Amino acid sequence: MELLRKKVIDEGIVLSNQVLKVDSFLNHQMDPVLMKEVGKEFTRRFADQEVTRVLTIESSGIAPGIMTALELNVPLIFARKQKSLTLKQDIYVEKVFSFTKQESNEITVSKKFMKPTDRVLIIDDFLANGEAAFGLARIVEQAGATVVGIGIVIEKSFQPGRQLLLEAGYRVESLVRIAALDNGTVNFVEE
Ligand code: 5GP
Repeated sequence: MELLRKKVIDEGIVLSNQVLKVDSFLNHQMDPVLMKEVGKEFTRRFADQEVTRVLTIESSGIAPGIMTALELNVPLIFARKQKSLTLKQDIYVEKVFSFTKQESNEITVSKKFMKPTDRVLIIDDFLANGEAAFGLARIVEQAGATVVGIGIVIEKSFQPGRQLLLEAGYRVESLVRIAALDNGTVNFVEE
């Protein structure tokens, strides 16, 4: 997606050879025009999938998630991150290791929002090791629903998430793919 690629080049800050900061348009300040286009692009890519729910994780997945849900005309659910839980009756819970915080969180979704008939599109801002995407997919599967695909705004293709998700049989659509973050610059996968 050319508009997004340009934004990453112009505003992305390479924090290390592992981490890209995009707080001017996605992770802190958000660019609604860009997010609208992101929603349209995911909708175009998954148009044939009869999506009934979009699922993301708080908080950075919410902007691309809600714009995609708006375009698809379906609800967005965002999984909540919680430290540890005592009452687990009415919720689906999965453990997810956070790449940015380097700690485990429990993520939860209320059972009332996902049914076995649902066809769920998972959306997230970044893909690194695939922890968040796998955790969300396990929640969909706990509900007996179907994961129709995983849409990622920025994929770091040098980390193993994409490969692991493909091997597990998921369809992955990433709007930009980063081959490396070396010497303070972003190198994209040539497609
Ligand atoms: P994964 O779960 O695939 O290992 O990592 C993806 C999650 O970690 C995303 O939800 C995102 O919030 C965060 N993340 C991973 N890598 C980066 C990065 O380079 N920059 C930012 N801002 N977030 C990242």
